[in-house]
Amino acid sequence: MSTQTVNAPQAHQVSMFEAVLARLDEAARIMNLSPEVALVLKNPQKQVKVSLPVMMDSGKIQVFAGYRTVHSTHLGPSKGGIRYAMDVNADEVMALAAWMSFKCAVANLPFGGAKGGIKLDPRKHSIGELERISRAYAVAMKDVFGVNKDIPAPDMGTSGREMAWILDEFNKNTGEDSPGVITGKPVAVGGSLGRDAATGRGVMVNTLAALMKMNLNPKQVTAVVQGFGNVGSHAARLLAEKGIKIVGIGDHSAAYYNEKGIDIAAAIDFVAKNDRNLKGFTGGTEIDKDELLMSKCDVLVPAALQNVITLENAGKIQAKLIVEGANGPTVPEADAILNEKKIICIPDILANAGGVTVSYFEWVQNKAGYYWNEEEVNARHDYKMEIAFEAVWNNSKKFNTSMRLAAYITALTKLEQGVILKGAY
Ligand code: NAD
Repeated sequence: MSTQTVNAPQAHQVSMFEAVLARLDEAARIMNLSPEVALVLKNPQKQVKVSLPVMMDSGKIQVFAGYRTVHSTHLGPSKGGIRYAMDVNADEVMALAAWMSFKCAVANLPFGGAKGGIKLDPRKHSIGELERISRAYAVAMKDVFGVNKDIPAPDMGTSGREMAWILDEFNKNTGEDSPGVITGKPVAVGGSLGRDAATGRGVMVNTLAALMKMNLNPKQVTAVVQGFGNVGSHAARLLAEKGIKIVGIGDHSAAYYNEKGIDIAAAIDFVAKNDRNLKGFTGGTEIDKDELLMSKCDVLVPAALQNVITLENAGKIQAKLIVEGANGPTVPEADAILNEKKIICIPDILANAGGVTVSYFEWVQNKAGYYWNEEEVNARHDYKMEIAFEAVWNNSKKFNTSMRLAAYITALTKLEQGVILKGAY
């Protein structure tokens, strides 16, 4: 029997939860948040870690570490994705859970925040292995998840396929048919139209709203997108549809630049036929993956990983606007450099809130048993995102602070009410 051990964040790595606390402290100071409320929000409500022994195709058992953190239920049942990646660990899941609380509050959704994950490399497992691991995780989390309790969704390394397996296993174990217990499902099993593209759509809506404030015409603007998975590919496609010229794209396998503009439909087609890898794409010049973020553009969309905009590269970023499709792409120390360079950064908790917004719509449709058409979903999404953007923009002016801290202030203002109104023992 081979065993996979749990990874803890290494000493040299930036603790993501510390990054959350640093921003929370800073926003709390600016808005004069009650120290008791800050204390409550600095401590996640529930942290669950499970070991999942699963039979591999080889006939050998491997043990996978699974996590779920519920950060807050002050504004409603907790909501947050499930990530499959090798660097999943307790610290990361805790940080992502807290961000979900802030994100739902910024988007004005009746949800708290949670996150889960399994430490594995999805590319190294067969579909059968992934199905058994996902089902084992659903059983292990059956007392955590619940349609009015904790509602997962896809994240990095997972998609509607995993959500359908988890839904099925959860329902078999509880004996109920409760489609709303998980969102981001395929449409055939209760998913919402528009959910797949929703996070990229939110990136597009936020980008257009910011460009308007900056008096920039989208048709004269260029963009670079890092990450070409769910968020990055839909964001690139939708930005291109709005007339923005996408000059750079990249993923884990390669990065490409083309000052004349990349044909995004061709890139999406290429990736679909190339096992989700951009490597080999001929629609641009291949550049060093690490150079992509610093290449010439007006708008930069990091939509892959956390901690990619750092002290080392922030000073070399040429974009005027950063729209964070990924969660936590900017380390806290880099914020000061971006602010000094007057680069406007639309933070993750606002920029990528489109996904959870349409997840909320999916949950509402599941509860009602009545389904909306795609135009309806998109229109409601755009409306909610525009309101969220405006609220954060106004707070950035009111408190004379960055969009990131303004988003935290917007979220904490709502969460403070939830914490105070629900009270303590
Ligand atoms: P995904 O797995 O579909 O895609 C991830 C992309 O990142 C892939 O193209 C992959 O090749 C690329 N990537 C991985 N390592 C890289 C590297 N070292 N350099 C460059 N690219 C690399 O994941 P996703 O769902 O698109 O999520 C991306 C980010 O967006 C994550 O931070 C996730 O938490 C966040 N997010 C996702 C959603 C959602 O609805 N999917 C919602 C909110 C936030």
